[in-house]
Amino acid sequence: MDNTYANRSIRCTVDNCRFHNDKENYCSLDSIQVSTHEKNPTKVECTDCSSFMCKDSCKGCN
Ligand code: SF4
Repeated sequence: MDNTYANRSIRCTVDNCRFHNDKENYCSLDSIQVSTHEKNPTKVECTDCSSFMCKDSCKGCN
């Protein structure tokens, strides 16, 4: 995984993700999947990045 790449089209602050850029608040993937866990999403909290994967060092990950 090359976390030095910063996709300037995908800003992200989730640095627990293994795809997060190692220095800046960007994603290192070419594209991501955004989804919802709600039947009727009405707030930002209803949306998720489905491309998220926990870093190996992330506490609480499976
Ligand atoms: S995969 Fe999603 S959560 Fe992970 S760095 Fe990219 S945008 Fe952020």
